[in-house]
Amino acid sequence: MMNSCHKITEQASEYIDRNMPFSQKLKMRMHLLMCKHCRNFVNQLELTVDTIKNLGCKKELSDQQLDKQVKTLMEKNDDKD
Ligand SMILES: [Zn+2]
Repeated sequence: MMNSCHKITEQASEYIDRNMPFSQKLKMRMHLLMCKHCRNFVNQLELTVDTIKNLGCKKELSDQQLDKQVKTLMEKNDDKD
């Protein structure tokens, strides 16, 4: 199960954007149910995206911006245990 964690974090932004096929989303949800790490990660990312969106700019996050956030969070995630 743990070996899919990397995949989950990679796809987290698509998941948050609801930009994901249903079958994939289902797999993701299953994993999130079982994996505290990824649940944490997705929560953090969601929060970050929300925060950025609320900073005043109403335009969508660019892929680049989102990418940067994902990388930052992934690094933070790696720091823990
Ligand atoms: Zn995981």
